[in-house]
Amino acid sequence: MRVRAYRFRAYSSKTTAGVLETQLEVACKLYNALLHAEQGKYEENKRTMNKTELRQLALDLRKQNPEFQVLHSQVAQQVADRFYEARQRFFEGLANKPKKKKPHRYLSLVYPQSGWRLSDIREVGLGKNKRKKARLRLSKIGFFTLVIHRDLPLEQVSQVCVKMYPSGRVYVIFTVEEPETQEQALDEPAKAVGVDLGIEKLATLSDGRYLENPRPLERSLDRIRVLQRSLSRKKFLSGNWFKSKRRLAKEYEHVKNLRRDLFFKLGVLLAQEYDLLVLEDLDTEGLIQKGVTRTRRMRLYDSSFSELRAVLEWEFVKRGKLVLPVPAFNTSRECFLCGRINKGLTLEDRVFHCPYCGFTLDRDLNASLVLLRRAGWVPPSVPVELRPIPPLPSLGLRRQGGAVRQEAPAFRLGVAHKLLPTKYT
Ligand SMILES: [Zn+2]
Repeated sequence: MRVRAYRFRAYSSKTTAGVLETQLEVACKLYNALLHAEQGKYEENKRTMNKTELRQLALDLRKQNPEFQVLHSQVAQQVADRFYEARQRFFEGLANKPKKKKPHRYLSLVYPQSGWRLSDIREVGLGKNKRKKARLRLSKIGFFTLVIHRDLPLEQVSQVCVKMYPSGRVYVIFTVEEPETQEQALDEPAKAVGVDLGIEKLATLSDGRYLENPRPLERSLDRIRVLQRSLSRKKFLSGNWFKSKRRLAKEYEHVKNLRRDLFFKLGVLLAQEYDLLVLEDLDTEGLIQKGVTRTRRMRLYDSSFSELRAVLEWEFVKRGKLVLPVPAFNTSRECFLCGRINKGLTLEDRVFHCPYCGFTLDRDLNASLVLLRRAGWVPPSVPVELRPIPPLPSLGLRRQGGAVRQEAPAFRLGVAHKLLPTKYT
């Protein structure tokens, strides 16, 4: 079984949003009460409680305390499950001991089986504005309107989670268990592409195309600085502190969404054209730690290589296609033509020039070709001819008055060859 999550934006009335916030606070209190009660029982009996006992304890607490009765009974049990999982992770040495949770960081409720109903699925709007909406009723909370932007296999839904993001936006996440689809893997992948990841160009494909790095964090940084400073001047946990915190969270969410959107678009583009994806096996964490300057470390972090890799891999695996990680060692310093190592190449050299055979090519393009060769592939047509590339659908970039330090580069796939009048034979 493969577990997949479908996330939809949810809208509600102010009253319902208020109820949700209260319930989150109550759930947090219940969690802390459980933690306390479990510790007491441990002192008494000298043994830890199992999952069923914890669930029962949650229900008992709910029975004794009228405050907890605003929660749906299964939601209360799921709070116990959450505590159980946290404690198990502690026992396995994977995490610290479960601590008391703070209300402003307890952000989601889960309906494990019942207590929710999706109804009134309808199409609204015309033409470009056409979309599907549905009404979700969560027991004890109220009604939400969901924007169903993708098909949801309603019969296979195993649980529903309602989550309030730090920015105040509410999302509903349906967890679906679907059988592992064994799509017939292609016997012999017909087309392969090598992808080199970098800071200057986010991704360089072995067919000569590249994607510029949008650096979403860097372009939002001025705004984030202002917001962070404003937050730090507010009184902790005061009304204005919460307001400031939401504004800051919104900006971070914008950065995150921009990045993910771009990654998925690139993933779809690649997976539609190619059967085999060759990536370098990067140690991203180590790379960031090795970054010499602060700017470089930030840009590495901003590029989110591991997330990009995960998204690209998922897009290929989903379609029954192959992903091949190859060792990253010396990929940018190896000559594609003769295979010898150019030791003199520094980070600043954007053009690769081989001192042994005189081969000259864009640095990142050379690296992506080396990756492809390490995977045992020879690029089909040499030289790669120039051809028009379908541009990625325009991304919703937010204009920021005066905050953009440099001319914002457009998102486009360019052709690396255009930069270099190089013979590639
Ligand atoms: Zn060479």
